Amino acid sequence: MTATLSPGAMTATLSPGAMTASPSPVYLDHNAATPLRPEVLVDMHDTMRHAWANPSSVHGPGQAARRVLADARARVAGFLGALPAELVFTSGATEANHLAVRGTWAQARLHGRTRVLMSAVEHPGLLALAAQLRDEGAVVDLMPVDTHGRLNLAAARARMGEDVALVSVMGANNETGVLMPVPEVAQLAHACGAALHVDATQLVGKAPLSFADSGADLMSVSAHKIGGPKGTGALLVRKGRTLLPLLAGRQERHRRGGTENLPAIAGFAAACARAASTLQDDLARMLRLRVRLEQGLRQALPGTVLLGEGAPRLPNTVCVSFGGLDAEPVLARLERVGVVASSGAACSAGATQPSHVLLAMGLDARAARSGVRFSIGRDTSAEDIDAAIEASARAIGPLLAERVAAAADTTT
Ligand code: PMP
Repeated sequence: MTATLSPGAMTATLSPGAMTASPSPVYLDHNAATPLRPEVLVDMHDTMRHAWANPSSVHGPGQAARRVLADARARVAGFLGALPAELVFTSGATEANHLAVRGTWAQARLHGRTRVLMSAVEHPGLLALAAQLRDEGAVVDLMPVDTHGRLNLAAARARMGEDVALVSVMGANNETGVLMPVPEVAQLAHACGAALHVDATQLVGKAPLSFADSGADLMSVSAHKIGGPKGTGALLVRKGRTLLPLLAGRQERHRRGGTENLPAIAGFAAACARAASTLQDDLARMLRLRVRLEQGLRQALPGTVLLGEGAPRLPNTVCVSFGGLDAEPVLARLERVGVVASSGAACSAGATQPSHVLLAMGLDARAARSGVRFSIGRDTSAEDIDAAIEASARAIGPLLAERVAAAADTTT
């Protein structure tokens, strides 16, 4: 699509520059959301202006919108190593996860496959669906992970059986960045005739990814983790596989009803094109920065424990416990000195809840409240990392010193 709106013209009203400008504070929460890229915004705006018609309409404007949709589908599918016909646009990875799991289970249970297996460290939205499915008669077994956060394959194997409809594992964990052994799980699932769903939300743009070669039958992805807009994503469905839709309707080959969110989808495609063009360089650079951050934090703050260290991990994610200090005050102090990070431990009613991921890795409740996640993005610089290390030392050093002094007091 040709852009009819120049990025320069947009700054007056939309300020894309402001969203991607060298961040102050240092933004290290890219696993939660990435800044919208300026070229993405241009394509979205252009689509809103010129492809506003309904892609299902048979008239000229509708057909123009349909071409934009087909073009976006081809670009997103191409980036993910899938066929265009395998791609179902959704409102994001949460919906894609629900469509994959519920849609497969609802169909397979008619043939006696009533059980669903998922890892204990899946995204909270998927674990919430597990609870719903249990209420509806499904048996959902959670598969444990080891102390590094990687799926315990022996335990997974022991849970497989002819009554399993679907096995669901994430490609990479959003809190720790730990990668899951997808090819091995695919073998186990397929050996008992079950489908494999992979929540690849955190893999996209952070690892080479090909749906065709992955062994997965279903794969969820989201646009806002790679510089695209929120509220759009996709489920990849292996050719020939059917599933019951969550939203019945004619769009997306009857797999997801509802008029397509074309501006967001165009933005998703632009983000994929952008990510594809620099992927190898980005991966290498993010890994160098991750190592720099890990080493720097350890040197500056003795007592720093790297969580998931023994497992292969994403090149952008550093999850640490600062001597077991509760994550919430640590994050508040970090933000005051200009570093934005996050924690997997949700905060409710003023108290930090232990992270289900860290609990599953065998940490006790206190330690499971201490995980602080720094996630690097494609625009993060070495200067950002050095600033984050220096600011962390200033913000957290005194907290650690207080803890050491308090421990000394209780022992004397
Ligand atoms: N799965 C994983 C692993 C995620 O990290 C996220 C986003 N935090 C989601 C699913 C949900 O994605 P979305 O925001 O597109 O619904």
